[in-house]
Amino acid sequence: MQKVEHIGIAVKNLSVSIPLFEKLLNTNCYKTEEVDSEKVNTAFFRQGETKIELVESTDPDGVIARFIEKKGEGLHHIAFDVTDIYAEMKRLKSEGFVLLNDSPKDGADNKLVCFLHPKHTNGVLIELCMEKTKD
Ligand code: ZN
Repeated sequence: MQKVEHIGIAVKNLSVSIPLFEKLLNTNCYKTEEVDSEKVNTAFFRQGETKIELVESTDPDGVIARFIEKKGEGLHHIAFDVTDIYAEMKRLKSEGFVLLNDSPKDGADNKLVCFLHPKHTNGVLIELCMEKTKD
């Protein structure tokens, strides 16, 4: 695993949280994107080498909606850059971690992603992400 690629924050309403984070970080949101596979809308901010990803549910039964219902808005996941997501998934699996998806799936911001079950990572949801090669 390499640097922290982004930190994911669960929010109820992007239209409230985007201006809030623009003020907080003193930088403009550079991208919003709907991710169908996760039933979320996302908004990204660049902060040095790392990004902040705000995540809003598009579905009242979606994982983010359920997370907010249980824990409230806040820190949701930490995403690490990997150069070979397939190799890293294999390595983590052999170390006993539980992957939430068996093969990488399409994430926001042109990435292939995989999540690890937080039960085995001290309650922290970890995302692996690899930049998709541009074709
Ligand atoms: Zn993420």
